[in-house]
Order: sequence, then structure tokens, then C-alpha cells
Amino acid sequence: MSKILSLLVLITVLSSCMKGESVDLVIHNARVHTMEDGNPIFDAIAIKDGKIVEVGPERQILNKYRADEFIDAQKKDVYPGFTDAHGHILSYAKQQLSVDLVGCKSYDEMIVRVEKYKSKKNPKFIIGRGWDQSLWKENEMPNNKKLSEIFPNIPVCLFRIDGHALLANDYLIKQSNVIEKFANDPELNQGGYFFNDSTGGFTGIMVDNAMNPVLDILPSFPDKELETAILEIQAELYGYGITGVHEAGLEYEEVQLLKKLIDADKLGLNIYAMLAPTPKNIAFAKKNGVYTHENLLIRSFKVYGDGALGSRGAFLKQVYSDHDHHHGYLTTSMKRMNEIADLCTKIDYQMNTHAIGDSTNRVLLELYERTFAQNPDHRWRIEHAQIVDPADFKLFASAGVFPSVQPTHAVSDQRWAESRIGAHRMEGAYAYRTLLEQFGMLAIGTDFPVELTDPFLTIHAAVQRKNAENFPSTGFLPKEQITLEECIKGMTIWAAYAAFQENELGTLEKGKDATLVMFVNPVKSNAVFVPNFAHTTWIKGKKVYSVE
Ligand SMILES: [Zn+2]
Repeated sequence: MSKILSLLVLITVLSSCMKGESVDLVIHNARVHTMEDGNPIFDAIAIKDGKIVEVGPERQILNKYRADEFIDAQKKDVYPGFTDAHGHILSYAKQQLSVDLVGCKSYDEMIVRVEKYKSKKNPKFIIGRGWDQSLWKENEMPNNKKLSEIFPNIPVCLFRIDGHALLANDYLIKQSNVIEKFANDPELNQGGYFFNDSTGGFTGIMVDNAMNPVLDILPSFPDKELETAILEIQAELYGYGITGVHEAGLEYEEVQLLKKLIDADKLGLNIYAMLAPTPKNIAFAKKNGVYTHENLLIRSFKVYGDGALGSRGAFLKQVYSDHDHHHGYLTTSMKRMNEIADLCTKIDYQMNTHAIGDSTNRVLLELYERTFAQNPDHRWRIEHAQIVDPADFKLFASAGVFPSVQPTHAVSDQRWAESRIGAHRMEGAYAYRTLLEQFGMLAIGTDFPVELTDPFLTIHAAVQRKNAENFPSTGFLPKEQITLEECIKGMTIWAAYAAFQENELGTLEKGKDATLVMFVNPVKSNAVFVPNFAHTTWIKGKKVYSVE
């Protein structure tokens, strides 16, 4: 009897196979990289209702499924959609609406770009972003003398590439009252400083918290312009196969803007938003806890532990090698960081803290260790983990701390990092291999707009340890290379873990979201950089980008 029954079952199964199960899309003749353990590669994938139904060999999938659309991939590489695990969509949008100073080769070029912007847009307040004095011949922090001469009657605020320093003209300095405020507010000068020239004169450069009085009076851009810029950024990301961003620090109003775009069905990126710990955001988090709104997930705070190495705001255990008596500083007090940690523990949020200097990394590793005792799977992140004392690496393992790194920072900073910290501290700098060995995973991003959004530059930096010009030829600190597969894991499955989204995203397997990308060129890492782009990008089964 049971034999007859199983025969009947077999016949039913076979006949349904022959008819073909109906799905929405089959991509075949592809190289489908599942990114599961061992990274098995299959020929074909079947998708229905935004989910992956099956991944398997060519014949198996083609025989089994009837689809509305078949795509012959002609052996192209297919991956889970990439995630940028640390980016700033809103800052990038603002950068696009400001004077673009990225890549300026001199102070004079910067002035010319500001003049052009002024005559074209006739603004009431000039904001520029992206200068980097290390690209200039003199390689010295600028002063505002010429800027104030040329623009005597309008406020001008020019942010350094890292966003941790700004150059203001005299008009803005006066308008913001920054000098007086700085003198009277110990919090500003504990976590920031005025940059003076060799004669002790103020240059007009403010670093980290010293920028706050200026930031307070910065006009905001109209929502309409920001929305347009955000959608342009989304299109750029889709063109690289990026389907998700861990947005590293948002104000309450910025979250509302993203929600508005999601509700209008315009913003399809998977957004894992870290909240800036402002009173409004804290009230929101206490009220809502872990919060999902369509493709937006909120369950973390982004905290700034210190500044940046380029503007000497990173907090170091020993003084800077190119600046006597200066250690940098914490930009958020220990007391405040402890309060945020307690709140995160209470409402099941993740704490993601920017830490560049070895001292900041150390104090945070100790702070996170407490959380580990209560929850070994807390996944609290250190963003950047740039300079770590070699004696402290083991704490990433013992405290369960998730390193979130941006390999393009390594190859951008290589020109001057050693002058800031000296050869002996380079041992624990940009040490992605060492960090990976400690924690077992890395979340990998770019920190755009500090770096470009291109994930293939990230791969080149992580695997070859070279910049886009293939410099240096032997790789920067080459013993810290990671493999191509590890780097892609950092942008797929490990990034998903870093955002508690591994059940929906990060690998191509049955039941997960059909969020994937097919690339134009084979995905490889070569000694010489070869650009690559998405051919087609899908989010939850919906085509959001195609070269055709
Ligand atoms: Zn950042």
C-alpha cells in the first residue's frame, strides 16, 4: 500500500515538473555566486514574488520552471546586491548642491571654483566641500586670507574632504561668533581646535567640535533639491550594483526625508540607518525601538568617538609624529558614550562608533566589552578601526566587536599617514587582515562622499592595496591584504550580519530577497585596475537598473 502511495506521489511530482512551476524570472547560463559558505557557483536562478525560489544547475532550473522572463546571462557573474556598509547619502547629496572642491590641486583652484559657483548661482551663503591640502604642492593647511579678500561680503564655509574640518572666511567667523563661543565653551575646545599658523595666528580653520558654532548657522538646502540629488545618487549606486547602504549618521529630519521618498516609491535602496544621538532621535528610538518602514531599518546609533587623522583630530595614545604635544581628542565624552551604550543595551540597539586613533579604539573596545558579557552576539561596531595598538587587536575577538572598514581610506591616506603617526604605529594601521582574523567578519564600505562610491576601487584597495592609479606597485602595507572573496563577503553577507539582515539579504539562496546584480565584466582583482559596472540590478525581483 505504501509503495503504491509513494508511486502516486512520484507521478504527481513528475507531472507537475513537466508542466513547469511558474516563476517570474529565470536567469540562466550565468555564474551565480551564492556567497554561501564555500561560495558554490551555479548556472541559474529562479525568482518569484521578489524572492529566490531556487539556485541550481542549468538543466535543473530550465526543466523545472516556466517563467515570464528568461535571461541568458552569457556566462556573466551574478552576485547578491552589494551593500556599502558605511556611506553618507545625505552628505553626498549636500556635496552635490555645494561647490565641488574634490580633487582641487591648489588653493587658487579652490578659489576659482568658488567664484564660478557664486557667479552661476548667486547664493546668499556659499558652502563648499571636498578640499584636501595633501593634494597641493605646499601640502599645508590653508589660511583664509585670500578667501576673505575675494569674498568680503558673503559667508563662505569650505569643508575639508573628511568633513572634520572647515575653512571659514572672516565674514562667517564674525557672523557665527565662533571665536567668542569657542573661548567660553569648554566642550567645544575639548573635542576640537582652531588651527593656527606658525606665528600663532588663526587661519580660519576649525576642526571637529570647534566647527559647531558655524554648523549651527549653516542654512539647509531645500528638500526638493536634496530629493533630486538623493535619487541621482541612488542611480549612481545601482549602476555599480549597490543595492543597500548603511547610512552612517542621520538627523531626525533626514530620516523623514528618506521615508518620504520611500513612500513615493522612489527610493528602493535597502537603507540601514544609524541615528545621530540627538534629543529628537533618542526620543524616537525610545518610543519605537527596532523600527522598520518598508526598505528602511533603524536599530542603531552612530557616535563620533574622535576626529580624523588628516586633520589631526584622531585621538592617539602618544603624540602625533608631526605635531609636538598634540594627541588629538575624544569628540564625545566618555560619560556621554557610556550613556548612549546604556540606552542601546536597554532598547536593543546597536552602537556604531567612529574610532580612528588607537586611543579611541582602545576605550571603545573596553566599553563594548561590558556589553559582550550580557550579549555575546551584540554586533556593536567600530567604524573605521583605523589605527589600533597591536596589543589591542585581541579585544575585537574577546569583546565581539564588529570591525567596519573602508579599504579606499588606506590607499588614499598612504601619502601622509606615516608622517602623522610614524613608522612604528603603522604596524596596527589599516590592518584589515588582522581585524578579520580577530572577529571573523568585516563590514566593508567606502565612507562616500569622503571616497568614491565605486565598489571595484574598494576591491582594488582591499586585495591589491593600491589606488586607482595602481600606486604603490607593491601594495600599501601588503601583509594586510584580504582576498577577493573576503572583500565581497564584506559587501554582501557580512554587511548583512552587521545590520541584522542576514535572514533576508547577503547570499543568493532559497527564501531570501531576490536582490542581485549581474556585472558587465568578470568580477576579478587584477594587479592593474580594470573598471566594472552593473549590467542589470534587481531589488526584490524588480529591475532597478539596466545598461540596455
Ligand atoms: Zn563616515
